Amino acid sequence: MSWETVIGLEIHVQLATKSKIFSGAATAYGADANTQACAVDLGLPGVLPVINEEAIRSAVKFGLAIDAQIAPHSVFARKNYFYPDLPKGYQISQFELPIVSGGTVEIQLQDGIKKTINVTRAHLEEDAGKSVHEGFGNLTGIDLNRAGTPLIEIVSEPEMCSAEEAVAYMKKIHTLVRYLEISDGNMQEGSFRCDANVSIRASGETSLGTRAEIKNINSFRFVEQAINHEVERQIDILEEGGKVVQETRLYDPDKNETRSMRSKEEANDYRYFPDPDLLPVELSRDEIDAIRTQLPELPDARRSRFIKELALSEYDSESLTANKEIADYFESALSAAGGEAKLCSNWVMGELSAALNRENKEISESPVSANMLGQLVLRIKDNTISNNIAKQVFEAMWNGEGDADGIIEARGLKQLTDSGEIEKLVDDVISDNPEQVEQFRNSPEEKRGKLIGFFVGQVMKKSRGKANPQQVNQLLSEKLNG
Ligand code: ADP
Ligand code: MG
Repeated sequence: MSWETVIGLEIHVQLATKSKIFSGAATAYGADANTQACAVDLGLPGVLPVINEEAIRSAVKFGLAIDAQIAPHSVFARKNYFYPDLPKGYQISQFELPIVSGGTVEIQLQDGIKKTINVTRAHLEEDAGKSVHEGFGNLTGIDLNRAGTPLIEIVSEPEMCSAEEAVAYMKKIHTLVRYLEISDGNMQEGSFRCDANVSIRASGETSLGTRAEIKNINSFRFVEQAINHEVERQIDILEEGGKVVQETRLYDPDKNETRSMRSKEEANDYRYFPDPDLLPVELSRDEIDAIRTQLPELPDARRSRFIKELALSEYDSESLTANKEIADYFESALSAAGGEAKLCSNWVMGELSAALNRENKEISESPVSANMLGQLVLRIKDNTISNNIAKQVFEAMWNGEGDADGIIEARGLKQLTDSGEIEKLVDDVISDNPEQVEQFRNSPEEKRGKLIGFFVGQVMKKSRGKANPQQVNQLLSEKLNG
C-alpha cells in the first residue's frame, strides 16, 4: 500500500511593532520578567484595549505581498480558554472576519520545480504570556512580557505533500516577512513559529485523512523532523489496522518523537464572539493603496530581475534573494565593483558566507563591508590579483587589516604580469627539474597536458602565487613543447 502525505501549516509571526497590539507596553525581547506588562496586558478589570495601527498596517502589507484580499471590514473576537499565562481568560483574535483572506505563495523545490501554495487566511491576534518552569522548584512562574505582543497567524490550505514542501513554504513566508520588515523573524526568540497539521491517505484518495496537529515548532529543521516522524507514526497505525485520532501533539526534538497533548474530545470549545471592547477595523481603498506604495521589491520580483538583468543563474538568484540583507549586500558590492555579477555572487555565496557561517555571524556583523568586497572584486577584474591571492586578501580584510588595496600593497601581492620576470621563473623551473622535463618530452601528446601541471605548480610556488597563471601556462607550454 502506498501513502501520500497532506500538510497544512499555521504560522505565527510576531510583528516588529515597538508597542503591543492593544497597549502601550514595550515588546522588546529579553527584559526582566513582568517588567513590560501593563494593566491591559494583565487583564485588570476596567481597562480597555486600543488597537495599534502599525499592527494593522503590517498585516495589510503581508496580505498585499501575497496578493490576498484585504477586508474592508474585519472584526476582533474573543477566543475563550483557561490557561495560567492568559490572565483575561480569553485571547483577542479574529475569527469570522479576518483582515486577510486568500493569497498565494510560490515555493521552489529541488530541481527547480515550482509549486503554488494557497493561503486560507491571515488574522491579527495577541500573543499569550509564558509559563516558566526553571528556577521555581515545583511551582510554575508566569512571565507576562509576551502577553499582548502582536501576531499574525497565517493559515495555509492543506496542500503540501512532504516535509520538504512544508519547509520551503515556511522559509518563503519567513523571507517575505523579513523583506516587508514587519517581523524580525527570530526563531530562537519565538518571533516565528508554526503548528503543523499532518495527515496521510491512501495514494489516489481524494478525501482528507484524520490529522494530528503538532504545536509550536520553532526551527526549520524541527518542522522537517517532526513531520517525517509523524508521517511514520500514522503509517504504522494504519498499516496495523488502527485509526489515527484527531489530536494535538507536541514535538520533542531531543527524542525526535511527538507525543499527545490532548485529543479532540478534550479539545477546547473556544466560544468565539466579537469583542465588545473593540471597534471593527475599517479600511478604505485609499488607505490600502497608500500601504501598497510602501511595499519594497519582493523576493520573487528581485530574483527575476537578477536572472534577467544580471544574467545570473536561477540557482544563484534564488540563493542571493532568499535573504534580504544578503541581496542588499550583494547589490552594494556589485555597484562598488562596477559590474561582474557572477564574480560578486560567487564571493558573496562562497568566501563571505563560509566566513560568516564559521564564526556564526549575521551579514550585518560582517567585518568585510559590501564596499570592501566590491573593491576586492574590482582588483580581480583588473588583473591586479588572481582569484587565489584574493582569498588571502579577503582573510586579511576579515581580520581587520584594512581594505583590499592597502593589503595588496602592504603584503606585496600584486600579480606578476611582467613577461620578462615570468620567463625567468619558468626558465629556472625548467633547469631545476631535468628529470621531469625528460619525462615530459618522452610522453605522448595526450599525456602532456596533465604533466605540465607540475611545472605550473613550481612556478606559482616560486612566485608565491603571484604570477599570472595564464601567462605561466602559455610560456611553459611554448618552452617545453618547443
Ligand atoms: P483548527 O482551527 O481547528 O486548527 P482549521 O480547519 O482552521 O482547524 O485548520 C487548521 C490547519 O489545518 C490549516 O492549515 C489546514 O490546512 C490544516 N488541515 C485541515 N485539515 C487537514 C488534514 N486533514 N490534513 C492536514 N492538514 C489539515
Ligand atoms: Mg489549529
